[in-house]
Amino acid sequence: MKYIVKNLPEYFKYQEKALQDPEKFWSEIAESFKWKKRWSSVLNADMHKADIKWFEGGQLNITENCIDRHLEEKGDQTAIIFEPNSTDEKAEHITFNKLSEEVNKIANVLKQKGIQKGDRICIYLPMIPELAYSMLACARIGAIHSVVFAGYSSTAISSRVNDASCKMLITADGSYRGAKEINLKNIVDKALVDCPTVESVLVVKRTHCEIKMEAERDFYLADLTKSASTDCPAETMEAEDPLFILYTSGSTGKPKGMVHTTGGYMVYTAHTFKNVFQYENGEIYWCTADIGWITGHSYILYGPLLNGATTIIFEGVPSYPDHNRFWEVIEKHKVNQFYTAPTAIRSLAKQDISHVEKHDLSSLKVLGSVGEPINVEAWNWYDHHIGQQRCPIVDTWWQTETGGILISPIPFSTPTKATFATFPLLGIQPVLMSEEGKELEGNLVNGNLCIKTPWPGIARTIWNDHKRYHETYFSAYPGYYFSGDAALRDPVGYYRITGRVDDVVIVSGHNLGTAPIENTINEHQIVAESAIVGYPHDVKGNALFGFVTLKRPISDEEKEALKIAINESISDQIGPIAKLSKIQFTFSLPKTRSGKIMRRILRKIASNEFTDLGDTSTLLNPEAVDEIIKNREK
Ligand code: ATP
Ligand code: MG
Repeated sequence: MKYIVKNLPEYFKYQEKALQDPEKFWSEIAESFKWKKRWSSVLNADMHKADIKWFEGGQLNITENCIDRHLEEKGDQTAIIFEPNSTDEKAEHITFNKLSEEVNKIANVLKQKGIQKGDRICIYLPMIPELAYSMLACARIGAIHSVVFAGYSSTAISSRVNDASCKMLITADGSYRGAKEINLKNIVDKALVDCPTVESVLVVKRTHCEIKMEAERDFYLADLTKSASTDCPAETMEAEDPLFILYTSGSTGKPKGMVHTTGGYMVYTAHTFKNVFQYENGEIYWCTADIGWITGHSYILYGPLLNGATTIIFEGVPSYPDHNRFWEVIEKHKVNQFYTAPTAIRSLAKQDISHVEKHDLSSLKVLGSVGEPINVEAWNWYDHHIGQQRCPIVDTWWQTETGGILISPIPFSTPTKATFATFPLLGIQPVLMSEEGKELEGNLVNGNLCIKTPWPGIARTIWNDHKRYHETYFSAYPGYYFSGDAALRDPVGYYRITGRVDDVVIVSGHNLGTAPIENTINEHQIVAESAIVGYPHDVKGNALFGFVTLKRPISDEEKEALKIAINESISDQIGPIAKLSKIQFTFSLPKTRSGKIMRRILRKIASNEFTDLGDTSTLLNPEAVDEIIKNREK
């Protein structure tokens, strides 16, 4: 593949090419893939109308690029390492040959069940190989997969299934998550009561728990694949045919069903995977996200497989059987690239360091972070203890909507800087906007983060709701893609994501980003996590409310002292204007199932609006909300 960056001057050189002639740049990269027919135009876009098309006229099947293309040279190489939840169960090494057989068999089963190109299939599976097989089987025959994270409730499933009128659902009898065993099929049965479009349900046996099978509707996948052929021709897809629908995390409101298409998504995820992780043949890559999130789609499944990489699918959780698990898996499989989220880093940093120190982490080459801004403390801990100060950390900024990473250091080329996502990737043109809609020039500026020109991986629409797509991303700044996040540009042009635009609070006329204040709070030894929100205040317009969790319980007296210390440090590091009017200590913060703090709920609580908390379908821990309301700081 062309344009893989090896040093900083090369990055600047390639970036200039990419921005000067994006069509030439991206078509040169696209040439390294297998197309059934070459595209006739590279880019056709009208950002004002939110109408974006890449590689029109081109025909392909992404599975030929993820699998078939590698068979000759790498058939016996491991494509996927499956690391089960329990340490008593052996890891499974799945070769490209085996992956091909499994995907083709399931693809034939789907066809046999009447699934056609363009039909939607909901996949509600735990992190087991069948999840990857099923997604690729859909892609093989041109069905559109809509993966729903297997921790979601039945209401979350039914609303997603109905939104996309899914014809089929693929699930498992149950799932293992740490010490827990969850009966998934029961959850599905409850969801399907309200889902008239679902005609059949395929069930993978995983935990062998007791489940109900509805005659004519439910089938065990293994029964059907037994007699299925391992050969299924790859459907011919137009470059702009949808590959999948995926719902956003719901941090800021009702989840949006983003639609990603085939050609551009393939080219973008493959290219960014190679650059951001500097993956070399034979290396072992591990991303700990769930495939149910975009991170898993793009950087567990598609990006790595498109590069013929070995990617780990981990079924378990970081705390089971104990807090060693991540470090043990890294040692066991000699992981080279490790990609995780700030929420996991913060929770593991709370544990005794001996968990880390007893493992050999010398195989590591690149560390990654994604999902939320990473605070300085967590960044330094990650760098020091996990990377042993020799592995560059790629703080990757992107979204479900963007398909792939947009801003990130390129390891060994871009010097890293704690809490900075640094430079845009090749072909990406970020701009910072003023409230008035003007591009802010120069460095040392703060603004709303927009992208000026289209890139191949951008979502093309919201399923069945192009109007919402246009309004959400293209109306605030006509002609630009608006991310909803705010950022600053430092003296050398590095970007730091300062949080969501909604998280900026205006206190006595000053715009305050909440992320830097949270960073300051998190630097207190005893603090595990914090979230700041604004609430209406008679004099200041808004005042700041801090919700803080601690690493261990402390006495009321110590709490009072800590409140004072927190405000002193904010005063020192940011200014007295940013001092918190209220601080509440709590056991946990409300989070989305993807591990992000749901500040919009805290905002309601801080404003005394307890009755309508908004869409809570993606809330992980309702008990945290109850606790916070009960002990609400007056
Ligand atoms: P919704 O759009 O439904 O509110 P969401 O934005 O949390 O949910 P995702 O697409 O999963 O859904 O998350 C993307 C968001 O995550 C980004 O807009 C940004 O706020 C945050 N984010 C992701 N990576 C980073 C990062 N490296 N640094 C800072 N923020 C990040
Ligand atoms: Mg979002």
